[in-house]
Formats: sequence, C-alpha cells, structure tokens
Amino acid sequence: MTLCTKGISERQTLLVALGGNALIRNGEEGTIEEQFANLKVPMGQIARLSRNYRVIITHGNGPQVGNLLLQQECCDAVPKLPLEILVAQTQGQLGYMIESTLESELLALDPTSEQLIASLVSYVVVDEEDPAFHDPSKPIGPVYSAEEAARAHWPARKTPKGYRRVVASPRPITIVEKREIGKLIEMGFIVICCGGGGIPVIRDGRAFHGVDAVIDKDLASAKLAEEVGVDILVIATDVAGAFLHYGEPGEKLIDTMTVEEALHHLDEGHFPAGSMGPKVEAAVQFMKNGGKRAVIASIEDIERGTGGKAGTELTLS
Ligand code: ADP
Ligand code: MG
Repeated sequence: MTLCTKGISERQTLLVALGGNALIRNGEEGTIEEQFANLKVPMGQIARLSRNYRVIITHGNGPQVGNLLLQQECCDAVPKLPLEILVAQTQGQLGYMIESTLESELLALDPTSEQLIASLVSYVVVDEEDPAFHDPSKPIGPVYSAEEAARAHWPARKTPKGYRRVVASPRPITIVEKREIGKLIEMGFIVICCGGGGIPVIRDGRAFHGVDAVIDKDLASAKLAEEVGVDILVIATDVAGAFLHYGEPGEKLIDTMTVEEALHHLDEGHFPAGSMGPKVEAAVQFMKNGGKRAVIASIEDIERGTGGKAGTELTLS
C-alpha cells in the first residue's frame, strides 16, 4: 500500500474527466446496475490516487441526458422539461453515483478513511451568439440505425458508434463556481463538478439563464483546469487513447503527440467533433495554458495514464 507522504498543500492537483459513454459499455443496455458496476473501475483508481494528489472529477452525461430526454418525450401526462434542467438532473444523478462509489472504494482501501468529498452543482457560462446553437454536434442518448435516424423528428449524425441524436454544444466561457471549487480543493476535498459539461447558462447582467444545450465536458474541464490551476489532466474514456485512422484499416494508437502535431491531425479530420475532437482540443488548450501533463486514456488506465504510462500524452514540443 502506498501511503501518502505529502501534506495537501504540497500535492499536485489532478483533474480526471470521466466519459459518460465509458459508464455504459458496448452491448450493455445502460441499466443503473451496469453503470454502478462500471464506475468501480475508475473509482478504485481515483481512491488510490487521492492519497497522493488533490483530485477533481468532472464527468460527461451524453448517454444519460439523451436517455432522460427520450423518457420524458414518451410521456404526455406532465410538462416537458428543457435540456438545461435535464443536464442539472443528470449532474445530480451522476454526482450521487460517483460520490457513493468513490466513498465505498475509499473505505475498502482504508476503513477509517475520513476523506471529504463534495459534489457541486455547477453552471458554465456560454455565449448566446455561439454559432454552435445553429449547428448541433453533440451526440446524446442511444445509438440508432440509419433508417431509424432518418425517421426521427430530431437532428442526428453518424458517429463511430452509429447514428445518434445531436444537440447544440456551445463553448464554455467560464465556470461560475470556480472559486468554490478552488477553495474546496485547498481544504482537501475531492470535488465532483462540471457534470455533463456544466449546466449551460448565459449571462443576464449579474444573473444567469439556462439555455438548451449540452456543453462538452472535455472543453469544460480544460476551462476549469485553467481557472483553478490544475497540474495533470487525465481524460478517461472508452478507448485506449487517440488513434490515427480510427475505425479504418491501419488505425494506430498515438502514444505521444506534440501540440503542433495534434492540431495538424485535428485539421486532417482524425478527431471528429462531439467525440475525440474535444478531448484533443482540451488537452492542447491545457498544455498551452501551462499544464504539466495531459493524457487521453481508457477508463481502466487512469492510474497508469496519470503516471504517463498509458494512453495518448500531449506534449508541448
Ligand atoms: P466520452 O463519453 O468518453 O466523452 P465520446 O464518445 O465522446 O466518449 O468519445 C470517445 C469516442 O470517440 C470513442 O468511443 C470513439 O468511438 C470516438 N473516436 C472518434 N475518433 C476517434 C479517434 N481518432 N481515436 C479514438 N477514438 C475516436
Ligand atoms: Mg464525449
């Protein structure tokens, strides 16, 4: 057992961005039991890492928010809820699932654990004029066949997983609770925040209004990392890292790439919008803003990725 040797103020801050898609495995229905079971893999690792790092966990909600939208569209007995409210609901749902699983894993490591954890409802400011409002790109909910997608009353796009419903995904401008998150980290809390990319809001003077969108959690995580000062960013997903020619003959996992190479591969279309694109963009942004290590890795490899021993690492040069 590696016991922590450093006080909280001397530890580096690690941000783990957990993929919503990684909580529902290929071929699974996505039941709550399956999602709880899948969460044990990342949470066991994060429990161990929390002995050596200050930890922030952000998470996606693509499959979960899409499923919730579908559920309410199947029911006419009660008023429909806007997407912003569904994002808030999935933030609560996943915050609870992550926190309770992490708690169990911390206690399994050390039955006397007194590690503090807080799940924070988080808003993220977006620009009302963001062109993304007119070009939905964020896949949510289940996978459909081409015929089902063509018959649907909502926009859909082909993704490597199949056809999926897409919604607007504006860029995050600032995390409203950044100061609270920073303070909780300094106090030694593990903070779960920016769930589902954060509840999308636009500014109205000093107040905020929710908008119909789902922010990409990878871009929200890069923004949060910049605003609270994170050392290591690990983007944990359902593939081993970023590949060249993904899903095509000759596909190849990238071990390391420089920011310049990453931008070049992005330009060449290797990393599509709505899935691998925002992960690579987030890693690029993080490194350019002074981050020490950015890794895109599988959910099984969070610990090894944190040590630079798995996944795709972005380097400055
Ligand atoms: P998450 O919920 O973890 O954010 P996403 O579905 O948004 O998951 O992104 C991961 C997915 O990106 C992979 O499952 C894969 O289908 C897709 N993908 C697209 N292009 C690539 C690529 N070049 N390398 C790896 N994965 C890719
Ligand atoms: Mg994603």
